[in-house]
Amino acid sequence: MPAADFDMNEVHWLMDMFNTVDVGLVVLDRNYQVCVWNGFMENHSGLLPSAVKDKDIFDLFPSLDEKWFRSKTEPVFVLKNRSFTIWEQQPYIFKFKNYRPITGKADYMYQNSTIIPLTTLTGEVSHICLIIYDVTDEAVNKQDLELANRQLEKMSRTDSLTKLSNRGFWEDQLKKEYLRLQRSQGVSSLLMFDIDFFKKINDEYGHGGGDEAIRHISDLLKKTLRESDTAGRYGGEEFAVTLVDTPQEGAVVFADRLRSLIEKSSIFYDDKVINVTVSIGVATFSSEFQKHEEWIEAADTALYHAKETGRNRVACYSQEMKE
Ligand code: GH3
Ligand code: MG
Ligand code: MG
Repeated sequence: MPAADFDMNEVHWLMDMFNTVDVGLVVLDRNYQVCVWNGFMENHSGLLPSAVKDKDIFDLFPSLDEKWFRSKTEPVFVLKNRSFTIWEQQPYIFKFKNYRPITGKADYMYQNSTIIPLTTLTGEVSHICLIIYDVTDEAVNKQDLELANRQLEKMSRTDSLTKLSNRGFWEDQLKKEYLRLQRSQGVSSLLMFDIDFFKKINDEYGHGGGDEAIRHISDLLKKTLRESDTAGRYGGEEFAVTLVDTPQEGAVVFADRLRSLIEKSSIFYDDKVINVTVSIGVATFSSEFQKHEEWIEAADTALYHAKETGRNRVACYSQEMKE
């Protein structure tokens, strides 16, 4: 093949490759006017190269954040350095619809880009080239994974039957509250309660009836809580509630309201009506507790006292109970 023909072929091939390659290629001059626009850009924008030639890029794409875009491109002109944009920072440069079948969840194409300086023979940067990569698959996968992780994290701290916090998570929260009170002189109260004669409920109505009672009480509890309080399922039919910034009197009012609400409510299960009561122990924070476990023990001691003195009642922790 003669050398001239080879050169012609080479230019032809380069144009073919330029228009077929699966990345966007755009050349802009110093006034941000489009000089070059490849097949990828044409296909995704629906704009022919002839329609964009010598047009201002910001006029063509009003959604392009000019201030941000210039902060990325000006250093390329001035410092002759490459610059990059990533979808986590700005989802896209050019707003293109996403037509991919698998990642159809995304409305728009997520894009990364590299911006390179194009120099003249005298070494000045007269133009820049934007290389646009479609990273929709990567972005959607990453977002799905993050969502799944958040759901998993939520599941790992939630009790499946009651949707209350599980014991581990609730206890972590209590420990944080304990440490906060040690620093701040504040006062919060801890409630522990246990369903009375629950074994009988299981015996009479079966495990399903027992579970329904646990769920019912959890729902009542959730309705009575404030945003800042945390309630957890401590054990089978034992519950724990941290009432933030609540001294003993307030905690007793809360506890007795809850106790009475449970006593008066009815659980409908399998055409039967189940009634339950609970016994509640209250322990208000004291700086004498050496660790958060002692606070739990105090509430448990009060709960034991409530059981011993007749059930369906509220008892507050006092030093004498321990003795
Ligand atoms: P008390 O008034 O002294 O609390 O009597 P009680 O019968 O409730 O005794 P206790 O609290 O010691 O017994 C709890 C029983 O609850 C033991 C177990 O059979 C039952 N239980 C524990 N977890 C579950 C659960 O998740 N579902 C059901 N249905 N029953 C449970
Ligand atoms: Mg129990
Ligand atoms: Mg019980």
